[in-house]
Amino acid sequence: MSMEYTKERAEELLSKAKNVNDIVGKLGGGKTRLVCVSKLKPASDIKALYDAGYRHFGENYVQELTEKAKSLPKDINWHFIGGLQTNKTKDLAKNVDNLYAVETIDTEKKARKLNSTRENVSKPIINIFIQVNTSGEEQKSGISPEDCEKLAKVILDECPKLHLQGVMTIGSIVESKSGGINHDFIKLAEVRKLLQENLKVELEMSMGMSSDFEEAIKQGSTEVRVGSTIFGVRPPRNGH
Ligand SMILES: *Cc1c(COP(=O)(O)O)cnc(C)c1O
Repeated sequence: MSMEYTKERAEELLSKAKNVNDIVGKLGGGKTRLVCVSKLKPASDIKALYDAGYRHFGENYVQELTEKAKSLPKDINWHFIGGLQTNKTKDLAKNVDNLYAVETIDTEKKARKLNSTRENVSKPIINIFIQVNTSGEEQKSGISPEDCEKLAKVILDECPKLHLQGVMTIGSIVESKSGGINHDFIKLAEVRKLLQENLKVELEMSMGMSSDFEEAIKQGSTEVRVGSTIFGVRPPRNGH
């Protein structure tokens, strides 16, 4: 896996990332985290941003993340933000030491499996964002808002290798394109508020992507996940 990047590519990436980072800094008052979503992009792109000081990167596929994490610096904070199959949680927990967060936990089974594997391999704690289906659309992944508290309790009480850090939504693209208030973001804020009150914990909100991160921050996001605005359009995934 080559880490070599051209000066031109580095300049392009840095200028785009800086634009986003400046907006995030301004709208979020320095409190919102930018995760650069590098899925399907070469490790050399990540290295270019790393060399300029960026440390939080998001990936969607367990195998791709595993390979990149092996080759890239160990102080990168990796976020797994892809759809997670229960049978892949073991690989994820085992293979990536510097896994900062898994943002797509939506069942007890996945939480317990991630926790038990991490215990078995004696690796650091993983931050967890519960993925919430805020739109109510059946085909969307994420747990229903009603079932969130039960899952949160399992993570808090029964998973010592997991730290409940927040809630996450992908949100509806249609809503974001229309430009106004995003109802997925409102819903996620409601879910967070209830959990905080009922469970006496502080929680973050991971919401906002290239098309809607500014709106998301205005609606209280503490973490945005931005890919194509920084890295450019993604190639199609092989075999999919
Ligand atoms: C790909 C992806 C992103 C980044 O999307 P862009 O529109 O390219 O910014 C953010 N969050 C999740 C969950 C993703 O899968």
